[in-house]
Amino acid sequence: MQGLEKEIQFIKGVGPNRSALLQKLGISTLEDLITYYPREYEDRSKPKAIAELVDGQENLIEAVVVSKMSEQRIRKNMAIYKLIVRDETGTCLLIWFNQSYLKNKFMIGQKYKFYGKVSIKSGKIEMNSPVYDEQEKTRNTGKIIPIYPATFGLAQTTIRQVMENAIQIINSEKDLLEETLPDYIKTEYKLEDIKTAINQIHFPADFNEFENARKRLVFEELLSMQLGLITLKNKYTKQEKGIAFDKRVIISDVINELPFKLTKAQLKVLEEIYNDMEKDKPMNRLLQGDVGSGKTVVSIISAYKAVKCGYQVAIMAPTAILASQHLESFENILNNFGIKCGLLIGSITKKKKEELLEKLRNGDIDILIGTHALLEENVTFKNLGLVVTDEQHRFGVRQRSIINKKGKNPDVLVMTATPIPRTLALILYGDLDISIIDELPPNRKKIDTFAVDKNMEDRVNSFIKKQIKEGRQIYVVCPLVEETEEINAKAVLELYEKYKNEIFSEYKVEYLHGKMRPKEKDFIMQEFKNGNIDILISTTVIEVGVNVPNASIMVVENAERFGLAQLHQLRGRVGRGEYQSYCILKYNSNSEVVKERMKIMQQTNDGFIIAQKDLELRGSGEFFGTKQHGIPEFKIANLFEDMPVLKTVQNLVIQIEEQDPKLELEKNKPLKNLIDKKFTDRIEI
Ligand code: ADP
Ligand code: MG
Repeated sequence: MQGLEKEIQFIKGVGPNRSALLQKLGISTLEDLITYYPREYEDRSKPKAIAELVDGQENLIEAVVVSKMSEQRIRKNMAIYKLIVRDETGTCLLIWFNQSYLKNKFMIGQKYKFYGKVSIKSGKIEMNSPVYDEQEKTRNTGKIIPIYPATFGLAQTTIRQVMENAIQIINSEKDLLEETLPDYIKTEYKLEDIKTAINQIHFPADFNEFENARKRLVFEELLSMQLGLITLKNKYTKQEKGIAFDKRVIISDVINELPFKLTKAQLKVLEEIYNDMEKDKPMNRLLQGDVGSGKTVVSIISAYKAVKCGYQVAIMAPTAILASQHLESFENILNNFGIKCGLLIGSITKKKKEELLEKLRNGDIDILIGTHALLEENVTFKNLGLVVTDEQHRFGVRQRSIINKKGKNPDVLVMTATPIPRTLALILYGDLDISIIDELPPNRKKIDTFAVDKNMEDRVNSFIKKQIKEGRQIYVVCPLVEETEEINAKAVLELYEKYKNEIFSEYKVEYLHGKMRPKEKDFIMQEFKNGNIDILISTTVIEVGVNVPNASIMVVENAERFGLAQLHQLRGRVGRGEYQSYCILKYNSNSEVVKERMKIMQQTNDGFIIAQKDLELRGSGEFFGTKQHGIPEFKIANLFEDMPVLKTVQNLVIQIEEQDPKLELEKNKPLKNLIDKKFTDRIEI
């Protein structure tokens, strides 16, 4: 119950109720709380004259009450309260709804501070639901006020109060908050100490203080990430001896058997991969390539090399659907070479599974393809030499290393279609070497993308019907509602009813969502693949890698709620066959940013450009925000804005690496503590 691990119930102002709400925000300890940084700030320090108030803005006034509070009941449960206040420049009407406790709060002739949203209608100045303070108090006004992110029913004032209490604990208990940066670094880069920074990030006296606090916290966050990644990389590649695959085993046999010519980019990454494989250091490589760029065949050829050298291969995919699809692709090519593949997914029978595992142990299976099921303890290989994980962002670092442990330092290839700009990828995946397929196979038809609003609904629907009549199939992806899988499922079902019963009653409509059992999902997906379903409505479960060449339209409902990178992934589900394909982004918003984002989707099919734009428009917080990415999440840094800091930090890390790679020097002790704490999960394994 000590120190920063102190549970939040022990903070003044936090009872069981608030504690539960805070837990929902991921806050369970004192440390979680003080690192729950404000989303933005409101400057409530400088009052404006009433005559200078601006319609639509939130402003602060200092004014004298000139009327009694009036109460007006408009409905049974609804009352409006009005108060007139005045300063030297004018009069303002304050309005509250249903706040009867305010009735006797204000005294005529007294001056108060009010802060709220101003509305000016034909010269009449009003302020809606203002917060207030008596003149000399500064509970809600008179300072810069932090505004916290999502609060799930916690009022901002409550969170603020709890935060104040937490900060007080930090300030009154000496040494509770230990310094995490060495003095020499703080001096050289002019950084605040940790206590000051934490105080000022939450309650800055002015924006200068905020800037300084933020600078320090961003620096620390990026530094610990970079150091952590470097340590991880050194641990895996420098200290361990890996498998040196036989140079004499050549891959041209299998390349010559392919039904197509590899692209230059595919050949280049293959060379990088087999160079790594032939070295006696373990390979630890990220293979990045846009959807459809042909990563799978690269993994097939790499697997061929491993098997021909006498080793087994594990291929891990995030869903059963994808794993089965991979099995098909692998067998198509490798069966001709006498290579045996097996499939391990959650839904296979116990008996079959036992047989499979037995064959795996004996070495009768060369390549095992599967889902998380591969991680289970009883899955043992005879001689695992290469591990490929597909769509890396679905697997955590820990899961990756569980599978790696099933061999003796096997080579590792991580494949991802998350298009991260190269500069950023180099930094974020500091623990991996990177290969990029930056070219699509020839003759790909461009997917035509249309952004449409409600007015176009009918035209879109008749276009869909026309395509179905021509034999094509349609995906419809539902708005992503973050909160829970249940809510997402509900949205899917509602849309399904509407499509099935109203608009598309003459067609076969089905649905898919994350709450369904794996068997059901596989069944529906298989039916769709076989062409027995015309329209498939789903959540983003189909985002990853599914291949149905006959599908020609991807409709995304409420496209404004998705990140561009994600829209791009979704769009990649169509245009996989010979048919001209379309992506229809339905949006429901007047925001300029939304329109700008839709425009980008229409203009380009290049995932890397899209990713870059997405970063610019939304910031890294949202870009990497979803838990699905295996990329470290940042509490305060924004990779786009803070790129210069990231570069500074990178140089610093290189210096530290040269001087003190194991962080053994006394002066670097705080750094050692910092990354030990933040990366224990990742480094121990
Ligand atoms: P992704 O990178 O999204 O995983 P896939 O590996 O699924 O892409 O490849 C998409 C499609 O392109 C597959 O049908 C595959 O057979 C085909 N393909 C891959 N490489 C080439 C190539 N060099 N020329 C033509 N088609 C290719
Ligand atoms: Mg793929």
